[in-house]
Amino acid sequence: MEIVDSRNVLQSIVKEFRLQGVSVGFVPTMGALHEGHLSLIRRSNKENEITIVSIFVNPTQFNDQDDYKRYPRIISDDIEKLKSINCDFLFTPSKEEMYPEEDKREFDFGNTDKVMEGAHRPGHFRGVALIVSKLFEIVSPHKAYFGEKDFQQVAVIKHLTKLLDLDIEIVPCPIIREKDGLAMSSRNILLSEDQRKNVSLISKTLFESVNMMKLLNLIETKEWVMRKINENPFLKVEYFEIVDSETLESVIEWTQSQNITGCIAVHVGNIRLIDNIRFYS
Ligand code: AMP
Repeated sequence: MEIVDSRNVLQSIVKEFRLQGVSVGFVPTMGALHEGHLSLIRRSNKENEITIVSIFVNPTQFNDQDDYKRYPRIISDDIEKLKSINCDFLFTPSKEEMYPEEDKREFDFGNTDKVMEGAHRPGHFRGVALIVSKLFEIVSPHKAYFGEKDFQQVAVIKHLTKLLDLDIEIVPCPIIREKDGLAMSSRNILLSEDQRKNVSLISKTLFESVNMMKLLNLIETKEWVMRKINENPFLKVEYFEIVDSETLESVIEWTQSQNITGCIAVHVGNIRLIDNIRFYS
């Protein structure tokens, strides 16, 4: 695996590959890699001749500076994992390399960045769009892989590629979970032992809600999920929204003909976790 920290160097490497007709897969990450990330890389390895992974903790997508500072950074472990999985290139730029000057661009994503994460983390998706558009420009991949754990992010990125008229296929990949159902996340390593034991209630409740929806209407199901999680003293639901999977607009009653997803954000002390569940797809 080759490690590159210069955007110009990576850009010319990829240009050469693309001229030779080599297919390029790309997996952008913020590091502290776990099986969720690795599943994206495996998929890219399968579908492309070369795979490029980026690790960059992007400051512009953090609306909370403490969260940015606390975010786990374990690059030497990450490099070992990437080597063992046959990643071809790792791109690890510095902050100065990615933001030599302030990037003032604004984007219009319609409804997709206004609700849920967008509403609770002001500026988050603008930061995501800034960094992903820069990375797409440098890497110019044929395909880019994103996890459905960040359900709303996938919708925003699809919007971004359309907006910028990019010829990049966005490939959404399923959520990878721990044995007890907890969605894997780099932030999970920040949880205390007690917190870790209690957070599995989030996914358990989401799974159970798929059965509850047969007995309850949509609003009741929503309330049931929030009540069940909030009853646990370690957990505080920030939002639980049941939305149309494509437009992310709120849905008020169960409709089998519509793709419907429930998205949740939960505070566990000063750590914030997200997850989601498909009700109809
Ligand atoms: P991050 O490093 O958190 O920015 O994540 C990088 C990519 O990995 C994003 O596309 C995430 O959605 C994806 N990802 C993170 N956790 C998981 C997971 N548990 N299952 C699948 N994909 C994931």
